[in-house]
Amino acid sequence: MFTVISTARVYPPNEETLLDTRTVPGELKWAASPTEGGWEEVSIMDEKNVPIRTYQVCNVMEPSQSNWLRTDWIPRSGAQRIYVEIKFTLRDCNSLPGVTGTCKETFNLYYYESNNDREHYIRESNFLKIDTVAADESFTQVDIGDRIMKLNTEVRDVKVTTRKGFYLAFQDVGACIALVSVRVFYKTCPLTVRNLATFPDTNTGADTSSLVEVRGSCVNQSEEREEPKMYCGADGEWLVPIGGCVCNLGYEERSGVCQACTVGFNRAVSTDRACSKCPPHSHSEKEGAAVCDCNPGYYRSESDPASMPCTQPPSAPQQLISEVNETSVVLEWSAPLRLGGRSDISYKAGSLLCLPCSQDVLFSPQQSGLRATRVCVSELQAHTRYTFTILARNGVSQGHSAGAGQSVSVTLTTNQAAPSPVTSIQAGDVTRHGVSLAWQQPDRPNGVILEYEVKYYEKDQKESSYRIMKTASRSADITGLSPLTVYLYQVRARTAAGYGEFSGPLEFSTNSDPLPLIGDAASSTLLLLSISGGVILLLTSTAVFIISRRRGKYSQAKQDSEEEKHLNPGVRIYVDPFTYEDPDQAVHEFAKEIDATYIHIEKVIGIGEFGEVCSGRLRLQGKREIYVAIKSLKAAYSNKQRQDFLSEASIMGQFDHPNIIRLEGVVTRCKPVMIITEYMENGSLDAFLRKHDGHFTVIQLVGMLRGIASGMKYLSDMSYVHRDLAARNILVNSNLVCKVSDFGLSRVLQEDPENAYTTRVTGTYHSPGGKIPIRWTSPEAIAYRKFTPSSDTWSYGVVMWEVMSYGERPYWDMSNQDVIKAIDEGYRLPPPMDCPVCLHQLMLDCWQTERTHRPSFTQILNMLDKLIRNPTTTLRRTGGDRPVPSLLEPVGGPEFVSVWSAEDCLQAIGMGMYRDTLTTAGYTSPDSLLTLTHQDMTSIGIITPSHQDQILASVQQVLLSHMQQIQEQMPDSMVPV
Ligand code: AMP
Repeated sequence: MFTVISTARVYPPNEETLLDTRTVPGELKWAASPTEGGWEEVSIMDEKNVPIRTYQVCNVMEPSQSNWLRTDWIPRSGAQRIYVEIKFTLRDCNSLPGVTGTCKETFNLYYYESNNDREHYIRESNFLKIDTVAADESFTQVDIGDRIMKLNTEVRDVKVTTRKGFYLAFQDVGACIALVSVRVFYKTCPLTVRNLATFPDTNTGADTSSLVEVRGSCVNQSEEREEPKMYCGADGEWLVPIGGCVCNLGYEERSGVCQACTVGFNRAVSTDRACSKCPPHSHSEKEGAAVCDCNPGYYRSESDPASMPCTQPPSAPQQLISEVNETSVVLEWSAPLRLGGRSDISYKAGSLLCLPCSQDVLFSPQQSGLRATRVCVSELQAHTRYTFTILARNGVSQGHSAGAGQSVSVTLTTNQAAPSPVTSIQAGDVTRHGVSLAWQQPDRPNGVILEYEVKYYEKDQKESSYRIMKTASRSADITGLSPLTVYLYQVRARTAAGYGEFSGPLEFSTNSDPLPLIGDAASSTLLLLSISGGVILLLTSTAVFIISRRRGKYSQAKQDSEEEKHLNPGVRIYVDPFTYEDPDQAVHEFAKEIDATYIHIEKVIGIGEFGEVCSGRLRLQGKREIYVAIKSLKAAYSNKQRQDFLSEASIMGQFDHPNIIRLEGVVTRCKPVMIITEYMENGSLDAFLRKHDGHFTVIQLVGMLRGIASGMKYLSDMSYVHRDLAARNILVNSNLVCKVSDFGLSRVLQEDPENAYTTRVTGTYHSPGGKIPIRWTSPEAIAYRKFTPSSDTWSYGVVMWEVMSYGERPYWDMSNQDVIKAIDEGYRLPPPMDCPVCLHQLMLDCWQTERTHRPSFTQILNMLDKLIRNPTTTLRRTGGDRPVPSLLEPVGGPEFVSVWSAEDCLQAIGMGMYRDTLTTAGYTSPDSLLTLTHQDMTSIGIITPSHQDQILASVQQVLLSHMQQIQEQMPDSMVPV
């Protein structure tokens, strides 16, 4: 009845066919209902004369048609959505003559999911409708006449996910229809390789919009670069490829697969797409080489890329030359002949003879990895044989260097060399006028150190004027410095090879004036406030001699200067300027040369042995102006006079103590020659006391005596014997501080031993070479020139008497000879008026005939300190015939402690945190605190300099003010108002 055209079918690759009626051999034999008069299976020939099965029905004339045709069971084979492609022809109702309203032009398509493939009957109610299908085109009579048949093709799809398979059914409702073919298929995304990842054949999803995510797997000899993924779309298309794989090293991508590099090629870097030829001096023997191996004798460093040619270590450096400079060597060489095909050459310098080589040897710029062809080796031992080897290296030297082939050596001997610089200078005790320095031996002495030289100068003046001090030890006490001035100190060592370099400068400032203390450097405020209108009149008219035969008290006292030196190894010893061959050298060693233009002379204040004494002002560069005394050497002087005059400066310049007159400097390079000292506003002590007769309290007088004793202790510690200690040689400043002066006598006496009995002038004996102060001089010094600190002690006793009697002349108007005689017979000066017994007792102690029985200045100072600290009990009783207590017995200690403890004292000065430290170290009483020194504190762990200063200064101040309070509580008769 019908003939179809063009039945040739080629399935698209993404469609899997479940049923195609055209390929079913034999009859279809689908179930039809009704079995008769409805759908009918008809075989026809296609255009190639191949028989095909069709179903036809054409009951257009009869009403109420419902003809069912059901396929066999179709397994769904994993498909989730199936497609039904129906090719059919449908007669146009209009083209059928005589049909009534019963003619239809559509049919219905149904499906029914089932696991059962043996259903024999159509249970229509089980079926679900997929769609009503209408023809797109229909044929007419005309069409038939032309022998052209039009075939409708309709495709419908439906989700089948619940059972293993399904049935389809076609319901005819009264059309004239022929089902030419029915094809049932589902869609897949076919196996594919994308970005070197294989994606398997994948069924599409159940819904028309679903995307099935699929993970790819890398093809052979490839590895994942990023997880390969794609999505299988509902129409069987792969979508959105992500990630992918790359070929393993030694393989390259060709036609979507990874293929091995051929022999002689490699692929070493994953970013390279293709294999490349082996770089020079390398090869590959097998297929699939990632890296080409270096040819024998060629190497690659760890950091060399495989694409780089293989290289060789360099040959030896050439033309090594050396230049020795003392203990340094400069080595220079030329680059090796062969660099081995590399540019990263470096050189390593090393000493093969390592016995003299220490860790300290320095290689500049460095020892290994040198880029330049030069190295400086320093800090070598002097006069030592060294062998240096320069080794050329490059990136492939490691482990492949044959050593000798890459190195060149030189043997040399270093020179004699001066010592290396001193590096570790430290400052110890710092005072107003000095500092003690200590240092270590240089790291490389390069020989035996013969001496050290200390150079020091004021920071402000740079090195325009400096002073030098030489010492064989590793310490030096620098003196004669200006207070509160910043100095720079440098030290260098000397060996047989000469001086080493100076150390870097150590900067240190001298201290300021000490805080006000009676006797040391009392402030004008403290003392002048205390000066009152009260008068103590000393009756000096009666010469009451008393015999003192006390012996033995001071026999243990160390009197001899040599012994003292031995006892105090760290104490600096006074240097006699007359031991210098050139006296000018001594002056400039100890005294600073001052430019005369800096001095402004104002008025004459006295006459000295060598000329006028003036007051004036001195303004040194960069410092504030100060008042000075200017002693000048009269015109027309002899050479000897000049030396004698300047010797005082050489002596004075060695001292640095608040109770010793301070030397500012000398003028020797122009005339007049001058000695500049600090200015003492109140002049000589004897004249000052006479002028202020009876004006001071006993405490103030004792304060003055303490100052003098302190200065004398300092001198005796330095083994200097003054020989002319007398009130006229003590100067008093505006703060009532007493300072020992007049250092010109020692020389005179030494030169003229036969001077004992000459004319008396101002209390002294003249001799051809000088004068001797009989009234102040001890018997042994007068008799046989035995001048010792003990003879100074004798003089000190006389000064005590002068002070306590407000400048009375010792032994009044007795002749010198009578004085000598009386002393020899055991008579001694009586206590001045109102002089406390203990003070007179101290005088008597000083006047012991046996010099070893006299107290040392240390003992005198301790005694006076005790008196000052406990005046109520010690200074109360005045002279007369009452028994005299021993001054060596402790005075008033327990009473003092009872009212004032060390702890109170530390709290009062804000240093309570050191209470335990000090107590543990045995400093439990206020007395003991007064004995503290910087060194003591450092040794027990109080190391902060400002704390040390605070303790030193404030302890005394606090105790003094405590003492003042006690004094105020004394009866009126004892305290002049
Ligand atoms: P001299 O030659 O040291 O005995 O000094 C003579 C006098 O000059 C002394 O008695 C003092 O009156 C006075 N004199 C010496 N040096 C100073 C000084 N530094 N300050 C004040 N007056 C002084």
